[in-house]
Amino acid sequence: MAAGASLSTFRLPPLPTIREIIKLFRLHAVKQLSQNFLLDLRLTDKIVRKAGTLTNAYVYEVGPGPGGITRSILNAGVAELLVVEKDSRFLPGLQMLSDAAPGKLRIVHGDVLTFKIERAFPESLKRHWEDDPPNVHIIGNLPFSVSTPLIIKWLENVSRRDGPFAYGRTQMTLTFQKEVAERLTATTGSKQRSRLSIMAQYLCSVQHVLTIPGRAFVPKPEVDVGVVRFTPLTQPRIEQPFQLVEKVVQNVFQFRRKYCHRGLGMLFPEAQRLESTGKLLQLADVDPTLRPSQLSVSHFKSLCDVYRKMCDEDPHLFAYNFREELKQNKSKNQEKEDEESYRLQ
Ligand code: SAM
Repeated sequence: MAAGASLSTFRLPPLPTIREIIKLFRLHAVKQLSQNFLLDLRLTDKIVRKAGTLTNAYVYEVGPGPGGITRSILNAGVAELLVVEKDSRFLPGLQMLSDAAPGKLRIVHGDVLTFKIERAFPESLKRHWEDDPPNVHIIGNLPFSVSTPLIIKWLENVSRRDGPFAYGRTQMTLTFQKEVAERLTATTGSKQRSRLSIMAQYLCSVQHVLTIPGRAFVPKPEVDVGVVRFTPLTQPRIEQPFQLVEKVVQNVFQFRRKYCHRGLGMLFPEAQRLESTGKLLQLADVDPTLRPSQLSVSHFKSLCDVYRKMCDEDPHLFAYNFREELKQNKSKNQEKEDEESYRLQ
């Protein structure tokens, strides 16, 4: 791919509008796939500007659909845009865009949940983790049912520095249901503070950069949409394996209205619950009567560090699952009841 000043001045030639493309290729939105399209190119330009400067960038767009955001990315002077779209009906429209931007747009008919972007762009783009982010960006307006599991998967990739983060601290600009965007960016003590807030914020700087009213989409979704920008941190705020952090965070937030000791207790087998929870909270120096939403990322860091030590001391602890113990207790009780009623017969 040629580099240079000409790349940054590229503009797409006049093309049919997105509305005309939708008509031409009969691209009605499929409700089951939660397809909601952006037709207003001023709005797609605005979303793309929120990703930062894309001059000579290598961009991975997830779920391009009829290509509104795709056009804005191409007009931002990128070196290359790779799009992954699952629904084959969009391919001819995207091909039209590719013909209008020779050598710039690569179209993959595939699934973003399995596509391996780490092999798609030149090796030379790779940066050390501590360096400035590479000139690689992920941008996308995906169905909400895909964007949430995908961000969890990508956060795990951030923690391992693999997948899209094999290039370094690749930045992501993605849309979510507004409520999810608020949870991702919620600060300590706020109503929206949740599992997602901690998982995102211990690994990335997370900003809710734009809210788009539902009426801007065709068809209109039930809710407004938030655009969130993620930049992986040079140093994660919790230095423990992703699964361990996830386990602690999940346990705490499963009783979000109770004191935090309630959820933390579920990390330990019933027989040692009281004692071990006390030890965890004491060593981590966390007040047991804080509510989950009041815990900061540094509270979680202390809890994860102490829990890690406890897991190192007791090799069975990490695998412990309180639901399994509940199930086993239930079936034991059932057996006892059956035995008793048999004896009484
Ligand atoms: N980006 C377009 C826009 O803003 O108008 C389309 C947005 S629409 C909400 C989501 C797009 O993602 C659809 O084109 C849909 O077919 C595509 N999509 C959904 N799940 C996908 C997946 N797992 N992999 C790739 N594309 C997917």
